[in-house]
Amino acid sequence: MVEKSDVIVVGAGTAGTYISWLLSKKGFSVILIEKDRREEVGKRLDVIHFETDRVQMAGIPPFQVGAPDCIEIRDISTVITPDFKTELKIRALQTIARLTPFLNRMYNVLESDGVKLEFSTEFKELIFKDNKIIGLFAESNGNSKEYHARLIIDASGKPAVIRTTLPEDYGVETFTLGPNDVMYVLLEYIKWKYPNQPHPATDTGYNWWLLWFGPSYDHDGAILGVGQPGSFENARKAREDFLKRANLPPYEIIKKEQGSTPYRSPPYSLVADGFLCIGDAAAITYPFSGHGVTATWVLCIIASDVIEKTLKTEGYISREQLWEINVNYFRDQGAKFASLLTQLSGVLNFNEKEWNYFLKKGLIYQTGEEDDIPEPNKEYEEEMSVGEMLKFLFKIVVGLIRRKLSFKHMRRLLQANGLAGNIKKHYQNYPKDPKDFIDWAEQAENLWKQKKIAVKQLSSIKIEYH
Ligand SMILES: Cc1cc2nc3c(=O)[nH]c(=O)nc-3n(C[C@H](O)[C@H](O)[C@H](O)COP(=O)(O)OP(=O)(O)OC[C@H]3O[C@@H](n4cnc5c(N)ncnc54)[C@H](O)[C@@H]3O)c2cc1C
Repeated sequence: MVEKSDVIVVGAGTAGTYISWLLSKKGFSVILIEKDRREEVGKRLDVIHFETDRVQMAGIPPFQVGAPDCIEIRDISTVITPDFKTELKIRALQTIARLTPFLNRMYNVLESDGVKLEFSTEFKELIFKDNKIIGLFAESNGNSKEYHARLIIDASGKPAVIRTTLPEDYGVETFTLGPNDVMYVLLEYIKWKYPNQPHPATDTGYNWWLLWFGPSYDHDGAILGVGQPGSFENARKAREDFLKRANLPPYEIIKKEQGSTPYRSPPYSLVADGFLCIGDAAAITYPFSGHGVTATWVLCIIASDVIEKTLKTEGYISREQLWEINVNYFRDQGAKFASLLTQLSGVLNFNEKEWNYFLKKGLIYQTGEEDDIPEPNKEYEEEMSVGEMLKFLFKIVVGLIRRKLSFKHMRRLLQANGLAGNIKKHYQNYPKDPKDFIDWAEQAENLWKQKKIAVKQLSSIKIEYH
């Protein structure tokens, strides 16, 4: 028997769940298949942070603090300089959630809005007619199932089980994520043995090590997290380096989690005939935090509006009809993220002394008036007034004169920022006509090739950021 629907979504993580919901609310029939059992989805992570303003924009039923899927909603984080001497406050609107209860709450919402959820059902193979996708085979409890739909969405996370198996000439890159395309993240849920002794405040970041103490469900605890590219060993050594220096009070490790999150640019096109990819399957994450959930919800909102228009027409859903998703995504958030990813290659190259200077002088988190708490990355781009720019440059010059900053690294930063500007402009000119795509993608590839590898030297390891 063939199951038919307007849309099939593969993967019931945060990306697949959200887009299924948006499309079914627009009146389309949606089947969401997921290889794991319903209660097991998302079990690889417990506590997860969502950007509160993006959650509101997504319009999902609000979180209630104290409900099984919401620990806390907070708005201030702390950043400590590598010499441990200076503490900065930054505004970061975050909802501290629990992943599996959140997904299960959303599954109920989806079902009441008409999505057909099929768990323990694993995507196996695409079905083509005249070289175009028309459906897929999946397996459920040892039985093969056939599904046909006008649109298939790959939301299968990092393995990108559909995107990576597309024919090479189908119009979407089929890359898999290598060790330098991801941040390896190690999390330890810890409990302070003597909670009254001074210890890092809840939600404190030590950016030099890409390490943080995130909020946990235990008020006398925290989540000690660290992320580095290349290998888990790199992340472990960065944490070791931090612990040697940090002089922390004693704590107990309650449990550990680990995983990786995409740290590279997305495929140049997210759409093809009868196909869309989203979420980790499309490598969409905030470049500076590795968070992916709400970053992709922005794409889902854009995509669902375009899909609504195309599904209302008769006939096959072509790449040309879905193209507006690429245009609207890459000209806005896609351009900002591409620029930030490039800027990071300049910033991550700084040494410890330079990080101290940059943080202390408000050059990374730019403060406005004296007591303003900066809100970095609010719109995922830094717009400086002329006055702010002059202040910024003045501090850089002073840093160079006092030898707090090296000319070599400042030159690298300027180069990275120049390239970031060019890359951003290029994405902002994402071609409206798919016929211009090949030229555009070639030029984008040439720009990305100019991005240099940043290198950080910690006491026991040198880490490369590609
Ligand atoms: C340690 C760690 C901490 C993180 N913390 C945060 C955070 O605090 N905030 C944040 O925003 N992001 C965080 N991230 C990133 C975030 O987890 C991901 O970006 C996000 O979960 C991606 O969602 P997704 O739906 O695209 O993929 P996934 O969550 O991976 O979901 C994909 C789903 O597809 C299913 N699937 C796979 N293959 C098949 C198949 N063949 N057939 C059917 N189903 C299939 C999988 O079982 C899975 O359920 C973190 C990542 C890590 C590793």
